[in-house]
Amino acid sequence: MARERDAVCRMCRREGVKLFLKGARCYTPKCAIERRNYAPGQHGQGRVRVSEYQIQLREKQKLKRMYGLLERQFRGYFAKASRKKGVTGDNLLQMLERRLDNVVYRLGFASSRASARQLVNHRHVLVNGRTVNIPSYLVSVNDVLEVKTASRKNPQVLASSAEVEGRGVPSWLELQKEQLRGQVKAFPARDETEIPVNEQLVVELYSR
Ligand code: SF4
Repeated sequence: MARERDAVCRMCRREGVKLFLKGARCYTPKCAIERRNYAPGQHGQGRVRVSEYQIQLREKQKLKRMYGLLERQFRGYFAKASRKKGVTGDNLLQMLERRLDNVVYRLGFASSRASARQLVNHRHVLVNGRTVNIPSYLVSVNDVLEVKTASRKNPQVLASSAEVEGRGVPSWLELQKEQLRGQVKAFPARDETEIPVNEQLVVELYSR
């Protein structure tokens, strides 16, 4: 499976925000954004002239990297979002949030979207009682997600499930923590996604 190969903390430093790509470390003072909040590389602390295009590009990169997507996949989501009724930016964020790997992460079964993707790929997750090993699967309202009984003692699942209290579960999901089970109560509204991105700039970038 193709994936972004840049060092993850470099990506956060490039975007100037925490993208939460490294699990528990992101919540500690060891986070690279806490220690060196400037762009990586020799000229990272230099002055930069910022064009409108660069601002739009950075917003798009931020969103794409947060969900661990490559350009082609991301463009696919944008194309689908723009064909749907409603506001393209809202549709885009909603689709990204509905990805199975994201929902597994949001429910706290994994400490990052990357490890959630691995959990799904390795067939540890059930959706409505059936194994789903496709991280891009889009969940629907009333879908029930759970970690397989045989995988509930997995130390990584247990550790991240303990962490979720600090992170919180979004209001569009309901978590039964003891059973490692969650349900999709509704599709996420924009203000429930808490994604620090101006999605309108992404729309403008792709509409050039
Ligand atoms: Fe980003 Fe997490 Fe690395 Fe901090 S620790 S820079 S939030 S990936």
